[in-house]
Amino acid sequence: MIKGFANTYIVEDEGEYMVIDPGNPPPENVEKVSVLVLTHGHFDHYMHAEDWVRLSGKGVLLHPADLPMMEEAPEWVMRYFGIPVPPPPEVEGYLKEGDTVKVGSLTFTVWEIPGHSPGSIALVGEGVVFTGDLIFEMGGVGRTDLPGGDEDALFRSIRRVLSLPESTLVYPGHGNPFTVAEAKRWFPVQS
Ligand SMILES: [Zn+2]
Ligand SMILES: [Zn+2]
Repeated sequence: MIKGFANTYIVEDEGEYMVIDPGNPPPENVEKVSVLVLTHGHFDHYMHAEDWVRLSGKGVLLHPADLPMMEEAPEWVMRYFGIPVPPPPEVEGYLKEGDTVKVGSLTFTVWEIPGHSPGSIALVGEGVVFTGDLIFEMGGVGRTDLPGGDEDALFRSIRRVLSLPESTLVYPGHGNPFTVAEAKRWFPVQS
């Protein structure tokens, strides 16, 4: 895990590497990448995608609903935040509900978890879930005031993720990981 503006996760198994949210530059010890996934299309999660695309020779996988937002990002991020953003990375393919991403012997299933953005996804693995900007440590939630945000959808998505087994480790897009059991104390939602 690389902490920066947003978290970048590197999942390794059998010599294959999956990189989730290439918002930070690659560390020197990572020389090859098998698959690059975006949990959603916000710029802080793909700021350094080009460096990783160079390592993998492949573009990113993401949900198609976030593609228009990503293409407009250089313009709207400048308007909202006054920050220059690189053009969106090359797209290798699309991920939708029920698709799987494999790394070595590990399989991650895609869940659509809209709310923070229309194309937000979770990657659900054995005892772990990567949730992008859905929920954060101590009960923070992803903002829904950006283009395509939907608060009702966000809370439906939170309830869905918290239906995973309580021991599941949740890896958020910002801040530290936590368990579903901890999150259930922070979010009094019926699951
Ligand atoms: Zn975001
Ligand atoms: Zn973020």
